[in-house]
Amino acid sequence: MNSKYIFITGGVVSSLGKGITAASLGRILKQKNIKIFMQKFDPYINVDPGTMSPYQHGEVYVTSDGAETDLDLGHYERFIDENLTRDSNITAGKVYQTVLKKERDGFYEGKTVQVVPHVTDEIKKHIFNSAINSKADVIITEIGGTVGDIESLAFIEAIRQVKNEKGHENVIVIHTTLIPYLHSVGEFKTKPSQHSVKEILSLGIQPDILVCRSETMPPDHIFDKLSLFCNIKRSHVLAIPDCDNIYKVPLSLEQQKIDEVVSELLKLNKTKPDMSEWHAIVKKLDNINQEVTVGIVAKYSNLSDAYLSVIESLKIAGYSLNTKVNYKIINAESLDSKNINSMLSPFQAIIVPGGFGNRGVEGKINAINYTRINKVPFLGLCLGMQLACIEYARNVCNLQDANSTEFNEKTKNPIFDLLRGKNKNDQIGGTLRLGNYPTTLINDSLAKSLYKQTIIIERHRHRYEFNNSYKTLLAKNGLIFSGIYNKEDLVEVIELPKEVHPFFIASQFHPEFTSRINKPNPLFLGLIKSIIKK
Ligand code: GLN
Repeated sequence: MNSKYIFITGGVVSSLGKGITAASLGRILKQKNIKIFMQKFDPYINVDPGTMSPYQHGEVYVTSDGAETDLDLGHYERFIDENLTRDSNITAGKVYQTVLKKERDGFYEGKTVQVVPHVTDEIKKHIFNSAINSKADVIITEIGGTVGDIESLAFIEAIRQVKNEKGHENVIVIHTTLIPYLHSVGEFKTKPSQHSVKEILSLGIQPDILVCRSETMPPDHIFDKLSLFCNIKRSHVLAIPDCDNIYKVPLSLEQQKIDEVVSELLKLNKTKPDMSEWHAIVKKLDNINQEVTVGIVAKYSNLSDAYLSVIESLKIAGYSLNTKVNYKIINAESLDSKNINSMLSPFQAIIVPGGFGNRGVEGKINAINYTRINKVPFLGLCLGMQLACIEYARNVCNLQDANSTEFNEKTKNPIFDLLRGKNKNDQIGGTLRLGNYPTTLINDSLAKSLYKQTIIIERHRHRYEFNNSYKTLLAKNGLIFSGIYNKEDLVEVIELPKEVHPFFIASQFHPEFTSRINKPNPLFLGLIKSIIKK
């Protein structure tokens, strides 16, 4: 397998949008008929982001094979429209875990185990295995963090070795930096980028391409200067000016001929990328003719990254309908039965997304009750489905103390409970129901009318399951169990009949993980359509 490798590093500051740059390049190469695979290396010591607070790391993105990963993978999948795998995200913690296990198992046969070569070998093995497993022509690897961070040194060193071993025609490094604009003097400044290139040079890597973020497109002489001082060919210095929508970035890079630059360096085919579908999508973004506003009732109200895939799924569904979806995250803890009407009336639909732990749960149940009674379109995601069932059991079936044992272990009516042989003493990391499971949708249901399929596959990340001993009671009282994972008889989708409510549906799975810019997820599309219809 003769794969080629593109590494994307970052300098100057974090949050440069390396992930968007990587994803955009991935899509451009895919449109040249090149098979690509993408991955992100995170230099922190956690084994995966699954146990990290959203305050630390934003959302945990789940791949189809059940890996709990960095949210940048969501950008990758939404941009490149490919399913990634657990090969797509490793952390320093995972690398060290493997090295330490090998050491304990006697694998190193008495040698002193060192960062170079043992840790770097493990990183390289991961890169090369991804190439073998994915059979991709080009592997794009984004290195998290900023060059020069102590944590990321081993990863940068591994790249240097890969470049040295595989040769320059097979490996390139794209360094992303920032060109600040100083308003007081009216100038773009190249010095931070120069220093950042110097930093990566000191680690033995000469970047092949420089991609600079900037407020607006810098003038030519700035590119000339960067080319001269950073020792990078003029045509290989590109810029990504701020734009109003991340989905426009691929077109900006296409315009600057990044495909030609990369193809020249890696000796790829000379086919022009066919970006016509992408141009059509961007045209829709620029032809918005209506706006809707959705409320997301959640725990982390000042942290939109915690719900990134939900928000992107809403936007994407909106774009396909020439609609701008505005959203607001409403702090679930602040909602009670007295203020609920005034708090939620500005929204044309309500989403209750996934979540863990007690905080805000009663506020979310109040919000669901509000949408059910007032016939406001409602979409529940994972925890959102669990709470919709609890709300129904309490307020329609008269089981006042209905709950999940996650929130009240002693409840007499455990509508949700640990099933599947799990128990509460299991370790926290990696013990959830994760990744793809099939759901069978029943005929004449809203779910089936949205998905237009009987068997769907969606991704999961939860521990508690619907307790089937309550199914008959809830069904008798009008709740429809419209999607089931047949093999283990687990509830996957619930809804209300269309005669009772215009759009009330919730899933145990996370539909937000399968939206793609060119393929909105059916549940989100249905939600936005139901608002427009109203
Ligand atoms: N806390 C719930 C469970 O573990 C829901 C999880 C989620 O919403 N992702 O089952």
